[in-house]
Amino acid sequence: MSASERRKAKSPQSLSGLIPFLRPYRLQIGLALVFLLLAAASTLAFPVALKSLIDQGLVASEPGQQLMSLRGHFGTLFAVGAALGLFSAARFYMVTWLGERVTADLRSAVYAHVVEQSPEFFETTQTGEVVSRLTTDTTLVQAVVGSSLSMGLRNSVMGIGALVMLVVTNPAVMAQVLGILVLVVLPSLYFGRRVRKLSRASQDRVADTSAIAAEVLNAMPVVQSYGQEQREAQRFRSATEAAFETARKRTRIRSVLVGFIITATFGALLWGLYQGTQSVIEGRITAGHLGQTVVFVIILISSVAVLSEVYGDLLRAAGATERLMELLATRSPVSETGHASALPDTQGGSTVRLEAVTFHYPSRPKAAALRNLSLDFRAGETIALVGPSGAGKSTVLQLLLRYYDCSSGRILIDGVDVRHAGLKALRRRIGIVPQDSVIFSTSAVENIRYGKPEASEAEVVAAARAAHAHEFIMALPQGYQSFLGERGVRLSGGQRQRISIARAMLHNPALLLLDEATSALDSESERMVQAALEAAMQGRTTIVVAHRLATVQRADRILVLEAGEVVEQGTHTELMARSGLYARLASMQFGLHGSDDTRP
Ligand code: ADP
Repeated sequence: MSASERRKAKSPQSLSGLIPFLRPYRLQIGLALVFLLLAAASTLAFPVALKSLIDQGLVASEPGQQLMSLRGHFGTLFAVGAALGLFSAARFYMVTWLGERVTADLRSAVYAHVVEQSPEFFETTQTGEVVSRLTTDTTLVQAVVGSSLSMGLRNSVMGIGALVMLVVTNPAVMAQVLGILVLVVLPSLYFGRRVRKLSRASQDRVADTSAIAAEVLNAMPVVQSYGQEQREAQRFRSATEAAFETARKRTRIRSVLVGFIITATFGALLWGLYQGTQSVIEGRITAGHLGQTVVFVIILISSVAVLSEVYGDLLRAAGATERLMELLATRSPVSETGHASALPDTQGGSTVRLEAVTFHYPSRPKAAALRNLSLDFRAGETIALVGPSGAGKSTVLQLLLRYYDCSSGRILIDGVDVRHAGLKALRRRIGIVPQDSVIFSTSAVENIRYGKPEASEAEVVAAARAAHAHEFIMALPQGYQSFLGERGVRLSGGQRQRISIARAMLHNPALLLLDEATSALDSESERMVQAALEAAMQGRTTIVVAHRLATVQRADRILVLEAGEVVEQGTHTELMARSGLYARLASMQFGLHGSDDTRP
């Protein structure tokens, strides 16, 4: 917010952010402009044809000749109308095409940019807000590029054309009229600035409502179990009302703006017209001349009226564009460094080394999540991280994946500093089984294949078998093609975990990061998940945030973390014998009471 406030640009200039998106379509823009000019020229030709109809077609002469001349004049008028129709259609097509095209590009660019952002971005930005930017803000831009801008251009061309014709045909009168019009433009600019500010605020309020909706709709079971439907509905309503309120303010100012411009312009031109009628009476100009002037005046007034509305639209879109450009300008703090060193090939797992790593989450600069932590993992080792909640176990996994960069110290994977390894290559080497298994709303086969998009069906089945997921998948109505429901709602907790493990196994990483689920499973599922994990750990280095006795017993080494530091390490038996923090944690977590009792 504050950054955006600082970068406050002036009036519709913020629309210049769209230029890079328009550039690839120079040809189409050129064509649109040509059609636009041709259509405007046809409109301006109309009053001229009208004048000759009145002044020449109606002059009394021999009746047959007059009829022929009248027909000729009407023929010309129709030709002007037909040209107008044709050019308008072509212009409409080109301009709408441009609007749709640019919006599609903009949407895709913003989305592609957002998915590259580091977790820090998603800690500070709500997903609903991003979705709102992608839909409502881009729709405003579409309205501008695909219609307002062309209406604006067309009416500017016609308005200026009509004005020029008026000045040429009635120089003295128009000098006065123009003087009055200048007085109209100045106050409009002031109003315009306010409209733009309010437009932006109004888009922000809409984004707020989307953020609320996205959050709540993802948590429906909790909302309903606490009976909070009414309160959530009320919260959404308040946000919507706030959006309405800012929209109302914006609209009020815009109405005043439109009303002022139209009235003032009308007044100025009627003044000119009044003088024109005087001239006809005094015989200084012909009736045809006056008729032509009237039509030019009508064109000019309607252009100004349309332009004042278009100006409002442009201001609104400027607010939206500003937001989109800010989103596009955010840079992920974790980025590829220039000199990427290649990770060496490994077999049987990666080596991992933390050297005096200290880390603060960006949102909590005062509290260190990890303090001067040094660790050394051999290839193929299985390490269990245990410790009280908040000790920094998950943070270690996040740093290995380079979701964040450490504040001081360094992390080496296979001897290469993660900051120099290249993000893609680094993450290619690492597999993660998160605490909450993520299931996409697609089939079982596609969910597993997420770990390796090019994998064949046979590879997917092999991974599922290894993860002990094959049997239950085959028991689903359409086997591997079964749709798993949004967020996997059609699976049990243990089944979701096994899909997640199969996905990681298909990815076949040299380093496997496991964040064990804390939720208890029934003993049958527990046995299956353990067997799956067991299989997944084979032949690779595994770092697991452990919550299960079976896991810690199996680990080559257990590291006990507390407040971001390693306080104990050893095997389960060694640590139980020491009666330290681990023994206390184990007695609480696994229900162990003696150092000799290692059975679940
Ligand atoms: P553990 O996994 O051992 O429970 P974490 O690694 O999740 O602990 O957290 C370590 C510390 O960092 C905690 O004090 C926690 O509150 C803090 N923390 C974790 N994630 C974030 C975050 N995204 N932003 C700020 N602080 C965080």
